[in-house]
Amino acid sequence: MNERKRYNRFSDKMKEIYGKRVIKISLNGGFTCPNIDGKKGFGGCIYCSKKGSGDFAGDVKDSILKQFNAVKDKMSEKWSNGLYLPYFQAFTNTYAPTEELKKIYDSVLYLDDVIGIAIATRSDCIEDDLIDYLESISKTKELWIELGIQSIHEKTVSKLNRQETLFEIEETIKRLRAKDINICVHIINGLFDETKTDMIETIKYINTLNIQCIKIHMLHVLKDTPLAKIYQRGEFKLLTKEEYIDIITDQIAHLDPKILIQRITGDANRDELIAPNWIIKKFEVLNGIDWEMERKNIFQGSFYRKY
Ligand code: SF4
Repeated sequence: MNERKRYNRFSDKMKEIYGKRVIKISLNGGFTCPNIDGKKGFGGCIYCSKKGSGDFAGDVKDSILKQFNAVKDKMSEKWSNGLYLPYFQAFTNTYAPTEELKKIYDSVLYLDDVIGIAIATRSDCIEDDLIDYLESISKTKELWIELGIQSIHEKTVSKLNRQETLFEIEETIKRLRAKDINICVHIINGLFDETKTDMIETIKYINTLNIQCIKIHMLHVLKDTPLAKIYQRGEFKLLTKEEYIDIITDQIAHLDPKILIQRITGDANRDELIAPNWIIKKFEVLNGIDWEMERKNIFQGSFYRKY
């Protein structure tokens, strides 16, 4: 565990393995999503932004390589000695025939200073022949598949228009893990009337999955989303920063200490954000989490049990 942190950061693990800072670069591969185009559903998940939850990804009009180089050039001014993990983030990044996907991934995978790739997708959108290809990548490069779970509670998920079941997610995790492919899952805190106990139950469930990494987000409301309309009608309240910090510190204490943590705050583009504004000050949230874990005298896994 990192000396300064009471939880296991993905970034520290990458540095330990590769000896240098690893910088993730968000990309837009020009995909859409089966939950938007009608294959699985219409309209998308209610919180999904116009950019397919890839608000920090590059400009889709540019090639993947151009998007990658534009960010790399900026980053290398700050960290001249870094390594890179291109992240296919916007929309569903396995939603194309495998031959097409290979070309897209390969355009950055074998560049100098690139350790591998991360791919955000849906569990119902990963064909067997793609898994074979992903397995071949993972044998020589860093490979992470990122899957949204958000919550295990049906009372909540039924309101999100995700059009994806926990059973589908579990089955896909089994198929990927059978090939030893690393998995990072995403969850969202503060969904409607979920209680702290509900959110901790989601973590306990995640401990039972064979996954290697987690991103925990605070629910945030973006412009021009169905969630924005529900929020503006006053149908739910967002967590305060203090409530969020209290909940997430207990979640971290329940989380299996082997699972790496890649994100514990929201990540919103401030021009698109309606609320809560406190997520913009990321360092204040991160510091608040550190102080609260110290005050409670807990570490990642302090309350972890094998369930
Ligand atoms: S699965 Fe992802 S890209 Fe598709 S609608 Fe939901 S959040 Fe957006």
